[in-house]
Amino acid sequence: MIKKILDGKTCAECRLCCIFDRYDVWETPVFDESTKKKLESIRNAEFIKKDGGYIFKVKSFDENGLFTCPALDSKIGCILKDEKPFDCRIWPYRIMKVGNNRAITIANICDAMYNKPLSELVDFLKSGLASDIFKYADVHPEIVKPYDNSYPILLIEE
Ligand code: SF4
Repeated sequence: MIKKILDGKTCAECRLCCIFDRYDVWETPVFDESTKKKLESIRNAEFIKKDGGYIFKVKSFDENGLFTCPALDSKIGCILKDEKPFDCRIWPYRIMKVGNNRAITIANICDAMYNKPLSELVDFLKSGLASDIFKYADVHPEIVKPYDNSYPILLIEE
């Protein structure tokens, strides 16, 4: 969904958004029933129900204090390909609840996007992505995260 602003090669070489530490484990994506079942069967992943979706049950961290998404394959990247959770398809944009409003923010750990001009990030949202994100969140409110003030707000829903 964001390939027009962030090329797939940059993402493939990074994968930072697929690895979590204990401070950003709340950021793990929300899965639907079908991708949850797929990861349970082929990766032995375990999940916790979150509203209308599922998030990973993070039981432990590796020796570096990290949890790697079970869908990440070191050779081919995300094994879910086009079935990636919506959260992953819009990353590093995030939808968050700010007071009584929903807002679209950006994660500052994605250098490739974070270093783009603010106007470019906002214009891309206004070209259609923001509307798609809000519509999806209407049906799947579980993707709306509580506001984290380390995430700059790009756009607030009107
Ligand atoms: S589902 Fe795929 S894209 Fe999303 S965090 Fe896991 S490996 Fe990364």
